This record gives sequence, C-alpha cells and structure tokens, in this order.
Amino acid sequence: SVTDAVYFSELIEDFKLSTQRTDISLELDLNNSEVMLRIDKFHFTTALFNILENAVKYGSENPSITMKTFMKNGMYTVQISDNGIGIPSHELDSIFDKFYRVSEGNLHKVKGLGLGLYYTKQIITAHYGTILVESEPHKGTTFTIKIPVT
Ligand code: ATP
Ligand code: MG
Repeated sequence: SVTDAVYFSELIEDFKLSTQRTDISLELDLNNSEVMLRIDKFHFTTALFNILENAVKYGSENPSITMKTFMKNGMYTVQISDNGIGIPSHELDSIFDKFYRVSEGNLHKVKGLGLGLYYTKQIITAHYGTILVESEPHKGTTFTIKIPVT
C-alpha cells in the first residue's frame, strides 16, 4: 500500500520524464493526501500511463492534461482530462475493446495496436474498479476511474 499523495506525485514525475518533452502541461489536483491505496503498483501505473500517453498521442499541439483525485461515495476517484482531438460519441463504447482504434481523421498516422485501453480496463476491473469516458470532438476527453478504498 501507498498513500495517494506519494503515489500520484511520483507517477506525474515519472510520466513527465518518460515523455522527454517540456511542452506538456500536466497538472495534479489532489483533494486528499493520506488515503491508503491498495493497488498493484506496476499494473495500476501502466494502466494510468496508457491514458496519459493517449492524452499526448491524440492531444493538441500544446497538450494540457489535468489529473484530479477525490473521494466520492467511498470510491477513490481519478479523473484524467485532456484538450485533445476528442472521440466521436458513437465510438465511445468501442474504445476499450481489444485492437479497437478510431478510424476517423488522420489517426492512421499515429501508431498503436489498440490494446492500451483494453489493458487499462482489465487492470481497473481487477482492482474492483470502474472506468468511464466522456468526450467532445475537438475539445477533449475525460476518463474517470473509481476504485474502492478499504
Ligand atoms: P496502443 O495504446 O495499443 O499503443 P492505441 O493508442 O491506438 O494503441 P488505445 O490506447 O486502446 O489504443 O486507444 C484506442 C483508441 O481510442 C485510439 O486508437 C484512439 O482512436 C482513441 N483514443 C484513446 N484515447 C484518446 C484520447 N485521449 N483522445 C482521443 N482519442 C483517444
Ligand atoms: Mg494507447
């Protein structure tokens, strides 16, 4: 177990380093700080990295990502928002499917297998959690993850 404050501040720093870019704004809005998270650190971090990587891959020229955490109804909630290209509403149900990629626009130029979000959902579900997505084309996308805390 690890406290949310330690876990998320490390995660943000690790992600910033991994992008090797200085033009990405990544803001952490932590509304708790001493919540003990019972997570498989390796898998949970990879799951969140997949979402953060997508926010950059499908992001605007000046990616701005916010990660907000708070407790709601006994669930630890993590919201990751980007200002990227967004996802058409009729695609939203499919993006967690294995090998699914949105075919509209110029996305074929962006490499990927379509496994990132599939993996992410499996890992969140393994933690008894849920993940949902909201998006507005040309505005941005928000993923909301909830996991129980004991
Ligand atoms: P991989 O993650 O396996 O390298 P991928 O990024 O294409 O490949 P997923 O991460 O599973 O696959 O995402 C599935 C699809 O959902 C993407 O191809 C993209 O079309 C769309 N998508 C995911 N995240 C975003 C986002 N933040 N903004 C816009 N589109 C997104
Ligand atoms: Mg991906």
